[in-house]
Amino acid sequence: RTVYVNGEYLPETEAKVSIFDRGFLMADAVYEVTSVLDGKLIDFHGHAVRLARSLSELDMQQPCSETELLEIHRELVRRNGIDEGLVYLQVTRGSDGDRDFAFPAEDVRPTLVLFTQDKPSLADNPAARKGARIISIADIRWGRRDIKTTQLLYPSMGKMMAKAAGCDDAWMVEDGYVTEGTSNNAYFVKNGKIVTRPLSNDILHGITRKAVLRLAAEAQMEVEERLFTIDEAREADEAFTTSASAFVMPVVEIDGVQLGDGTPGPIAKRLREIYLDESRKTAI
Ligand code: PLP
Repeated sequence: RTVYVNGEYLPETEAKVSIFDRGFLMADAVYEVTSVLDGKLIDFHGHAVRLARSLSELDMQQPCSETELLEIHRELVRRNGIDEGLVYLQVTRGSDGDRDFAFPAEDVRPTLVLFTQDKPSLADNPAARKGARIISIADIRWGRRDIKTTQLLYPSMGKMMAKAAGCDDAWMVEDGYVTEGTSNNAYFVKNGKIVTRPLSNDILHGITRKAVLRLAAEAQMEVEERLFTIDEAREADEAFTTSASAFVMPVVEIDGVQLGDGTPGPIAKRLREIYLDESRKTAI
């Protein structure tokens, strides 16, 4: 696989980042994951805008322009022959060759790394036909979840807790309300109405969330953005999650309680279809 590091395309075995890099030592880094369908990028501009915001919130330098980023994404997709898959991008604050809590001087360049992941069954995903079984866990992450940082240890632990319980994923709960999934935004449907938590610093502002809410409104579906409890979600007719890498993923069980007949619900299935159709049309 060819990867990209700071201006160079290299075989993955030759790519190097300093052991003093703050991304490595302190998770002082932000990332984006963009999906590829038919060899084209889904919602690239949305990801570029969110990346710029994450960097600016952390006083990190923009490594290059959006046009250059698009060029790098396309070049990696081309070189690796990706038809369906993901492009992972990470920017770290870089390093001045030592470890210190204080940020390095302004002239230290950020580190920019990108690589692709080949995922031939991203759109025709067997997991989406089955639906996900989820557990709820406490949300003990920091208070700026709107910034897409690489501090992913707790979400990883959440996935392991789900796995240990024989499930697929976890939704996180704070002050009695669901925040989001370990790597996705969370929704339930009751009496035809889609409910999801409003945007704030408590959750990531999902690129897929924005697209799906727009498409739901265009399809005359009712949407309400408000806080909700895990009990409400357990009593729902159906539930689902959204993310760039799994699109719309139906949820069929929450904390051992089956939703509806235990198969993906009609609204989740329809939104998945609409989202995939629209994405194929608008990918660049
Ligand atoms: N919430 C969290 C915590 C995430 O990690 C992600 C994606 O990685 C999302 C939500 C969904 O965001 P997006 O639709 O931009 O992938």
